[in-house]
Amino acid sequence: MTADEALKILNAHASALDVPYPHWIGGKDADQGPSYCRSCAEAKVAAGEAEYVDGGWQQDNDGCCYCDTCGCLLEYNLTDYGAAEELEHYLAGHPSTPISPEDAFHIAKMLEHDESNPDAVAIAVAAAELIASAKEAQP
Ligand SMILES: [Zn+2]
Repeated sequence: MTADEALKILNAHASALDVPYPHWIGGKDADQGPSYCRSCAEAKVAAGEAEYVDGGWQQDNDGCCYCDTCGCLLEYNLTDYGAAEELEHYLAGHPSTPISPEDAFHIAKMLEHDESNPDAVAIAVAAAELIASAKEAQP
């Protein structure tokens, strides 16, 4: 299996998820650091903790991105540092089987960052093969 084929399988598996882009809050006294899903960012504005909602697009991240309030998964692009951290994580222990759509999402992000990295390709191919064989085993 090639890296491209693995990426296709991982992305198809992850498409079960509806992953929103990260939003931020802005204005006087607002903490612009954390990322939020749109409804949690709007709740901050409604609560008077911020003046407006910003963002709603892809951002480079040093790792996975989650909403600071509700913890839901948010879209991200890995930085070099983030990709190296993710690689470390998956080299230290394979994702538990069956591969969840969220695992597929994270592994695809890691592979997309550098499709020429042999470790990333090996992890992605192994995960894609698990997903493909789990699909075949279904009645
Ligand atoms: Zn949220």
